[in-house]
Amino acid sequence: MAPQANDLQKYNPSIIFRTLATLCIACIQTVGTRSVLNTPSSVLNLPTIPDKVTPMLPETLQLSDENLSLLQDNENDPETKAGLFQGDMALNDEVYNYWRVGLRWDVFPEKLWKNRTVPYVISPLYDTESYITIYKAISTINFMTCVKFVPWDGKAKDYLLIWPIKYPAGCWSYVGRYGGPQIVSLEPPDINSDNCIGSEGRPMHELLHALGLFHEQSRSDRDKFVKINLDNIIPAFKNNFNKQSLKNTTYKFEYDYDSIMHYGPYFFSADKSKPTITPKHAASRLGQRKMLSKTDCLKVNDLYGCLGKSPLYRRKYYTLCNYLGL
Ligand SMILES: [Zn+2]
Repeated sequence: MAPQANDLQKYNPSIIFRTLATLCIACIQTVGTRSVLNTPSSVLNLPTIPDKVTPMLPETLQLSDENLSLLQDNENDPETKAGLFQGDMALNDEVYNYWRVGLRWDVFPEKLWKNRTVPYVISPLYDTESYITIYKAISTINFMTCVKFVPWDGKAKDYLLIWPIKYPAGCWSYVGRYGGPQIVSLEPPDINSDNCIGSEGRPMHELLHALGLFHEQSRSDRDKFVKINLDNIIPAFKNNFNKQSLKNTTYKFEYDYDSIMHYGPYFFSADKSKPTITPKHAASRLGQRKMLSKTDCLKVNDLYGCLGKSPLYRRKYYTLCNYLGL
């Protein structure tokens, strides 16, 4: 008997691959989560993290208390709450003057994580559910890219502290490696909102900033793909929608509506019923926070030199990105 469409679908190699890979990630996540949960972070000598920290902000972007308070209400996206550069990125003046869609390693070679390895600590202040969500985000990036997040051994000088910072609250991160303990702020769920840990998406977004990625809609060619509705942006935050010159846009990848690094349509909107960004292609959606897109995945592998490393590596990461990326 000729095979039915359903049978063909059942044996489609790409579906089989995707299923196996998903099972594999789930397996690594379960085993890994168990082993990490069995390692009490109290045995590590963690630095004291105050409730209030002052992430770097370029001088020209300092906000008044009044404008900052505009961002704090719960209807706002948690990625816009901290009032940092473009909402969620801590930058000093030096980097601000050279910022790119992705960090340029020729300008800032020291900001690349050495040996593609990122030691991390997840704060013991998170409840188990949040802890597992953050851990799943880390495992997914570890599986899809050649960058490896590893539990901090208490000795490495540079590492990420994934922490529920109270002020500025929200989801925010530095861009690239800054040296020493480096905060990634993820506000846990409360009665009003999931904040940054409703799913793995927002943790993945902030972790990609920590690896050196910026926002997709800041590319020099973005006006061909999205319309910025300046009239509906809260005036103090219009510069969050600046774009870069062509010279400063170093990526070779196509504009990516599906990027986990793209702003959502209502970020910084004065009238919440109207978008601040609209895609120019009707079928496109913006601001997904579910999974790395194919291109996000390739970008990370490219930034960390894994697509040109060897034909085997190249094939491995192209395959993983193509099958598992959104
Ligand atoms: Zn961001």
